[in-house]
Amino acid sequence: METIQIQTESKSYAVFVGEGVRKELNDFLSTHLTDLTRILIITDETVAKLHLQELQTVLSTWNPIIFIAPSGEKAKTFDVYYQALSTALENGLDRKSVILSFGGGAVGDLSGFVAASYMRGIPFIQVPTTILAHDSAVGGKVAINHPLGKNMIGAFYQPEAVFYDLEWLKTLPVKEIRSGFAEVIKHALISDSDFLYWLQANVPDIQSISQERLADSLIKGIEIKNKFVSQDERETGVRAYLNFGHTLGHAIESEMGYGNFTHGEAVMIGMVYALKLSNQLLNLSFNVKEFVRWVTELGYDIKLPSHLSYEQLLRKMKQDKKSVGESYRFVLLEQIGQPKLQEVSEKVLLEELKRL
Ligand code: NAD
Ligand code: ZN
Repeated sequence: METIQIQTESKSYAVFVGEGVRKELNDFLSTHLTDLTRILIITDETVAKLHLQELQTVLSTWNPIIFIAPSGEKAKTFDVYYQALSTALENGLDRKSVILSFGGGAVGDLSGFVAASYMRGIPFIQVPTTILAHDSAVGGKVAINHPLGKNMIGAFYQPEAVFYDLEWLKTLPVKEIRSGFAEVIKHALISDSDFLYWLQANVPDIQSISQERLADSLIKGIEIKNKFVSQDERETGVRAYLNFGHTLGHAIESEMGYGNFTHGEAVMIGMVYALKLSNQLLNLSFNVKEFVRWVTELGYDIKLPSHLSYEQLLRKMKQDKKSVGESYRFVLLEQIGQPKLQEVSEKVLLEELKRL
């Protein structure tokens, strides 16, 4: 088991990573949450079917309450949020209770926001089950969606701990592995060229990646996320670099309809776009062709879905949280591992979109 200590301005907490770390949960609850009254597990239908029994076995002495959300992005609606709060109230959760988030990023974002807002905030623990969640479970951004925008209703709210049991990742469909691995590659691109070259040399195929290499990649990804979050918990500066590839990525996700395109697949297209812009505008010297060859081998499709309109994508990119006023603001790279916020003109953006 590997332990990474996350240090933010508001809180310090551990991320436990490894096969079987769920077995440490009980001890943690007894030693860290004294006077614990009740546990509410928030999960989704898929994860409940596959793994809930195992988690319940570990926690059997606590007789946890269970709330099951729909799988995927559908977990992050007002309606599901309301139902989860009702379950908490009906079962008498109080300030000494804990919410356990058991699932991918969607369940994590929902549960975290329930925990942040229920009785003005009660403790929560992340028990992530996707590769993507190496990113989403760390750093304390929690949110649900508004029909007018993704993640628009949320908070900064850190968990008590993260228990990342890699055994649970074994049931992930390849599409979800790919989605999550895009964020690992992002972490390498914005922070560590050696890590990027290591990934390129050691991960020629995403389906047959060994548990050991996967664990190493996730630990490294979490450490990089921690580096940015520890300097800037509330995203007033360097934390924005974690949005590399996300300006176009979010626009694609939104245009495709949330849930029809995985987050990571969309972000991968956004990263290739941002790399090309970086070559052009910041003299980044990086072989994007070679990078595209590698990620294509990993199964990513970096072509823009043909029915998407450039105008709509540009409009969505302008709405991006990082953009201010009329300009488009992008995270680009001066070098691999050296991100920079850069204003980019609409003309350049459009030309480069057409070349994707
Ligand atoms: P997800 O939670 O929707 O999970 C993806 C799919 O995999 C779902 O259908 C889920 O039921 C299924 N699944 C989960 N674990 C499984 C397992 N072990 N075996 C088989 N199937 C499993 O999504 P995700 O990709 O983990 O995360 C995406 C979400 O995370 C988005 O809502 C995004 O906005 C959010 N996010 C948040 C942050 C943050 O900092 N808070 C960062 C990145 C992404
Ligand atoms: Zn992301």
